[in-house]
Amino acid sequence: MTESENMSWDLSQLVKVDDPGYIEERMKAAVKEMEDFRDRYRGKIVSLNAKQLFEMLDELDRLNLEYEGPFVYAQLAYSADMNKDVNKHLFGVFRTSATAFMQSYAFVDLELGALLSENPNIVNDPAVAEYKHKLEKIVREVPHMLSEEVEQAIIAKDENGVRAWSNLQGDWLASRTYQIEIDGEMKRLPYGEIIGLYESPDRDLRRRAHEVVYEGLSKDDIVWSSAIRSVFADHLKMVKMRKWESPMTQSFIANDVDEETITALMNTIEKNVGAYRRYLKLKAKALGLDVLGNWDIYAPMPTESNKKYSWEEARKLNVDSYMTFDKESGGWMNEMYERRHMDAAVREGKRSGAFCATWHAGESAYILQSFNGTIGDVYTSAHELGHALHAYLGTRSQKPTNYEIGSCIAECGSNFGELLLTETLLGKIDSNEERKTILASVLDSFAEGAFQVSTRVWFETAMYEAIEKGKYLDGNAISDLWVEARTKMYGDAVEWLPIMRWWWTFKLHFYMANYRYYNYPYVFAGLFVYAMYKLYKEQGEAFVPKFKAFLAAGSSKSPRELAAEIGFDITTEEFWQKGIDQFSEFIDLFEETL
Ligand SMILES: [Zn+2]
Repeated sequence: MTESENMSWDLSQLVKVDDPGYIEERMKAAVKEMEDFRDRYRGKIVSLNAKQLFEMLDELDRLNLEYEGPFVYAQLAYSADMNKDVNKHLFGVFRTSATAFMQSYAFVDLELGALLSENPNIVNDPAVAEYKHKLEKIVREVPHMLSEEVEQAIIAKDENGVRAWSNLQGDWLASRTYQIEIDGEMKRLPYGEIIGLYESPDRDLRRRAHEVVYEGLSKDDIVWSSAIRSVFADHLKMVKMRKWESPMTQSFIANDVDEETITALMNTIEKNVGAYRRYLKLKAKALGLDVLGNWDIYAPMPTESNKKYSWEEARKLNVDSYMTFDKESGGWMNEMYERRHMDAAVREGKRSGAFCATWHAGESAYILQSFNGTIGDVYTSAHELGHALHAYLGTRSQKPTNYEIGSCIAECGSNFGELLLTETLLGKIDSNEERKTILASVLDSFAEGAFQVSTRVWFETAMYEAIEKGKYLDGNAISDLWVEARTKMYGDAVEWLPIMRWWWTFKLHFYMANYRYYNYPYVFAGLFVYAMYKLYKEQGEAFVPKFKAFLAAGSSKSPRELAAEIGFDITTEEFWQKGIDQFSEFIDLFEETL
């Protein structure tokens, strides 16, 4: 087998017969089965007893497992090579079939809501014990549902209302271009390309890229401010209509968390902005600066090594890292390479970026990335393998319904995997410069998720407060709120270009319709994983089964219950402080390299 074959997926395991005609036929059969299911159950869910409810949910899981392979096959084949006709064809069939499947399924959630609002006690019936948490989540939504006509009207009005604002921001941003001089040559770059210069090793270029982009963005302040104001104000209207307690309630329900937990989390961040500032000041020192400019926050270390890793070396590093943590986990990660569940070859027509797709029926996963041999690529493997470990554990213990991982927990296995790789690398490398580079990149990525993103949480809250007070938010007023949130985080640790007050204008997530507070799950995941890692360091082997049980539980319990089962109370600041303590330990190691 050639190196490139060895780095390409073997998708044949997903299906009984590895033939496009067969795969297409199976996807169409799935739609037919779902239609039969709908014809049998539509209008009847509201009168099911607990035993019948279990049978229905169990049948949905069976359908899911039976037809998962062909659906996953069609999606993965297309991601790996979009130029191949057979892949394009299968993906087309996948899209139509998946839409038809979901349309036939849509009544289930609506009718489950009706059943649970009439008979909330059914949740506690032992017959549905396995699905208890899924049902509890629906029970939480029930009081905020409106009548069917109102829900329909909202969907219809949103399309040209809040969704239109959201699309306007996205389309406008995507159509902007920016003129910048690179190596003596004037270039005009689209937004998606010029932001790549933010991480250039050339300090002046980083600074100019920021200036050019934000000067451009600031000129369109009427577009951004009208859009963001409308999206946020629309949410406040929905808060009242749906009787959510606060602008955050909807996100608590969606993320399966509660106010107590998120308050403790955010309080911990606020109390520890000093730790972040300490790191930023040390990073300034490492770059030979008195103070970081905002254009230096994610700058690479000047000594960034060009060391290249072969696929075999990367495999060994990653498998060893997981092996050191736990033999069984290491064995599974080795299997990911051995069975060719990693598509890492670089090829034309391949989707960019990286992801890990769970294969529930096969109790495994498939990873896609484009491996060029940089240390960043080795980390990408470690990250995606962490998702795979989650999948190996979760699919062995849970049905598909109980493995729908919410955003607070989704990145736990993956971020933990990156720390395991960091530990292996730090144990091997004695070059001070290389240690410095690795630590800086670990600290930068944690700091962005935990601290920089927290600034966005504060900003979002300040926006709702201002609108509720009746304040008219034009571009400048919004920029003032952003600067206030930013200063609370960064203090005097960073020097900001004046034009950076327009930072909020580009951030797509702020404008997304009906998707509020997308931000704190990143803070949650960052701090949670660091806390877990700290506990692993303290407890050693005793911690391993706890963490595995946590991942194996999938979505069968809330994050709060999951953590409690392994002995942690995530509603306390004491728990979250463990994560900060781990961050500070890495800062100490970084300081030693200076
Ligand atoms: Zn991830």
